[in-house]
Amino acid sequence: LREVENKFEGIWRLSKLAVPVQDDPGKDFTGVSDGLLREIAKAIKFPVASMLPAEAFSVIRKSFDARKILKEPKFVYTVDMDVSKLVDLEPRTQDFISDLTLRVGLIDHITQGRVTGDLISIIRHARKGEEVQASSGSGDHDNGSSNGSSGDRPRIAVVGGGPSGLFASLVLAELGADVTLMERGQPVEQRGRDIGALVVRRILESESNFCFGEGGAGTWSDGKLVTRIGRNSDSVLAAMKTLVHFGAPNNILVDGKPHLGTDRLVPLLRHFRQHLLELGVSVRFGTRVDDLIVENNCVVGVELSDSRNQLPPERFRCDAVVLAVGHSARDIYQMLLSHNVDLVPKDFAVGFRIEHPQVLINNIQYSSLATEVQSGRGKVPVADYKVAGVVSTENGDISSNSVPSERSCYSFCMCPGGQVVLTSTNPKELCINGMSFSRRASKWANAALVVNVSKQDFETLSFHGPLAGVEFQREFERRAALMGEQDFVVPVQRVTDFLDNKLSGTSLPSSSYRLGVKEANLHELFPSHITQALKRSISMFNQELPGFISEEALLHGVETRTSSPVQIPRGDVSYESLSLKGLYPVGEGAGYAGGIVSAAVDGMQAGFAVAKNFCLFPEDM
Ligand code: FAD
Repeated sequence: LREVENKFEGIWRLSKLAVPVQDDPGKDFTGVSDGLLREIAKAIKFPVASMLPAEAFSVIRKSFDARKILKEPKFVYTVDMDVSKLVDLEPRTQDFISDLTLRVGLIDHITQGRVTGDLISIIRHARKGEEVQASSGSGDHDNGSSNGSSGDRPRIAVVGGGPSGLFASLVLAELGADVTLMERGQPVEQRGRDIGALVVRRILESESNFCFGEGGAGTWSDGKLVTRIGRNSDSVLAAMKTLVHFGAPNNILVDGKPHLGTDRLVPLLRHFRQHLLELGVSVRFGTRVDDLIVENNCVVGVELSDSRNQLPPERFRCDAVVLAVGHSARDIYQMLLSHNVDLVPKDFAVGFRIEHPQVLINNIQYSSLATEVQSGRGKVPVADYKVAGVVSTENGDISSNSVPSERSCYSFCMCPGGQVVLTSTNPKELCINGMSFSRRASKWANAALVVNVSKQDFETLSFHGPLAGVEFQREFERRAALMGEQDFVVPVQRVTDFLDNKLSGTSLPSSSYRLGVKEANLHELFPSHITQALKRSISMFNQELPGFISEEALLHGVETRTSSPVQIPRGDVSYESLSLKGLYPVGEGAGYAGGIVSAAVDGMQAGFAVAKNFCLFPEDM
């Protein structure tokens, strides 16, 4: 800190500034309120809060903290202070500010020169004045064939229009590649109608549904933008700022638990598409990639079909394929195996989706403050939760000695004010997830409640080989469909009944799931060691959230697609498959992401890796 020569320059970061709820304008306000200025003054021991100019401060993060260990719930801020904006203060105060350099424990100097913009401005800035060399089939892919390249620009097929495919397309197109984005599903406008037909008339379009279509699995979702890959990393910031560029509200950059909701994602995706089209990307919806064209152990194209089977198949030659198909494209895993592409089974998690009345979760989390929630319009956010632990499955309850005696269990993808939705892609399989709109105003709160499973579990059901995890998922999705008995009806059980292993037969609590629920004994779904682990985790979570076990809580079966059951090994730097040249597996389906933001970041980084391979990459990026 003392190295900063001019004491009236620089940006300083203040964190953990806690503003009581009554002193804060509320969850949607991300400016500098009087209440926040008072906390800043206290933190830097500045005598008169009202003398601090609000313009010297910008809010970097705002979270709501209602943990029971606090005396009262608070909004917790991280704020950047621009010291140069304090120079007009009277001399006495200037002396005070100069003393700040000694308060090392409170203030961190921020390294300047971090990512300041969205991806588009970063790339354009870096390319300005660069002599960008583009060459077809250069780098590792120089196989002498033209592959249909346009001019001297490499021709790249991006397969999948979810977050990873969109961000890969964006980077590659901004860097000058000739990009074709192929998406088996429909654009958001038509996809919305297909989802409507599913929810209202039970018509499942196998290629346009909650998993497939523009924006990928994350479109009709909760749109949570939380990530475990480092919220403040340059890549995450660039991805978030890119979302803002396409219409996400600015507060996602500040909010401790940023959230969009489906209603905001849909227009954002339309803007994203428009931008890609303006860059010259050929965006092909209703176009399913069925196969790779491989010559000399290198991908030189893809075989396409019109996903509604109205046009004849087509061969599309290109220099590289970015495979961003998500983890529900099980046909693609099978196809990759036929080309001897390495696939490695990966651990994931299975369980149920638990749903409570939102009011109950508000009461558990906020006590007397629960009335402030007001269906998403109030001062404090609709309450959520996140619980995790490790449970033992010993005590003679295990069905096989070969499975682990301890398992991680956790809540996942919690959707406050949301609804349970059908994420099946095949009518004979039933799996569910959760979504919400931006206000999170529904009267239910749902979350996945899952325990981890691994190769040993797959083997207990005699599933072996690279796709053992996929078979394991499919087994329980089929069982759930049979238990529901008919068109997408979901088997459910009261939490209290599940714990007692009984059916009460009395009327069930209401469910947000629109296609109907049917009471069933969910003990009949999973092997007993998994059921046991789920029972224990519910009891454990009830200790943390007293009231979680409730007559009003309903378990829905089955939650299986928590993350990819497979990983496609690739180079750490090149992002290229280790077993097939020209193939770049990215995103969740390839086992490298688990959520909207991490998938976007993976696609973005893969885009840069491919661009580097084709010499499209300015040296200083
Ligand atoms: P995907 O989003 O799955 O996209 C893959 C795309 O590839 C799809 O559009 C698919 O149609 C297309 N495709 C597949 N096969 C082919 C083919 N052969 N040819 C052409 N196209 C193909 N994550 C969060 O971070 N926050 C949330 O709130 C959240 N909520 C969710 C709610 C639901 C209902 C679901 C299902 C998921 C949710 N997720 C959430 C998870 C998140 O959506 C995924 O992690 C993320 O979308 C993965 O991105 P991706 O690009 O890797 O794959």
